[in-house]
Amino acid sequence: MSAPLPTANTEAAPAEPEVRRRPALSPSRASDFKQCPLLYRFRAVDKLPETPTKAQLRGTLVHSVLEKLFALPQAERQRDRAQELLVPAWSELSEQLLPEWMELFGGDNAENADKTEVDAWLRSAGKLVDAYFQLEDPARLEPEACELHVETELGSGVLLRGYIDRLDVAPTGEIRVVDYKTGAAPREIGEAKAMFQMKFYAVVLWRLRGVVPRQLKLMYLTDGQALTYAPDEAELRRFERTLEAIWQAILKAGKTGDFRPNPSKLCAWCDHQAHCPEFGGTPPAYPGWPEPDAGEETALDRAD
Ligand code: SF4
Repeated sequence: MSAPLPTANTEAAPAEPEVRRRPALSPSRASDFKQCPLLYRFRAVDKLPETPTKAQLRGTLVHSVLEKLFALPQAERQRDRAQELLVPAWSELSEQLLPEWMELFGGDNAENADKTEVDAWLRSAGKLVDAYFQLEDPARLEPEACELHVETELGSGVLLRGYIDRLDVAPTGEIRVVDYKTGAAPREIGEAKAMFQMKFYAVVLWRLRGVVPRQLKLMYLTDGQALTYAPDEAELRRFERTLEAIWQAILKAGKTGDFRPNPSKLCAWCDHQAHCPEFGGTPPAYPGWPEPDAGEETALDRAD
């Protein structure tokens, strides 16, 4: 099951039945709060709309292609076959995009989008898919799951929720967590955030299955490199306490609305400068802590 695309709170967005879920912490929202509490508020509490970049949409597309690739029989998971999946995956994705997002491609739907723009963008996605094949041979792998939704409750009651790009489990039971990175931001900026996300998943899997994942693997498709890390139980125990502390800090800020800005070079990637006091803006009136769900994560969050 894929993570949902975000629903923007604009009048143009189709009305969706309200899904009442218990508040949970996701790696993206936890990272937001760590980076800047005000950014967390804008995303999780105010739910201000954000327009994705072409790079984010490309990441979503490439994740979808790799998920479809692993749904094929092993012998069919070849480079050419993967490239053939791009156009159908784009058709599916474009149906889910809001008209204003399609403006990135010079139209308001897939029919009237600028074909030259779309073709160039699809070629750039095709390069990332090709880069994936430089890193491993999917015909030799049989993952247990792709786009795996995971959720667990810690002893303290904190609910953790997220989506894992791919889970490999060896016949011996050893677990490898794999995440594809396709973002345009410099790798060094995203690396700490990526490792935070991977440790988050490691904690969830450890608590769900009682096994510490043997390896966390980040596959950087923009530069064709992979980074691996082997967590240990003591580290995950410490990390679990970190997550609990983040959630307590979020709840405390949520009660009062005291979410402070924390400017950094990452502000360059923030969609909300117009509402941020650090950039001369004013946040909207605090709407109160959202019940029940303040931790939703979308496919775009993960397409970095
Ligand atoms: S612009 Fe920077 S300080 Fe302001 S909300 Fe965004 S990340 Fe936080």
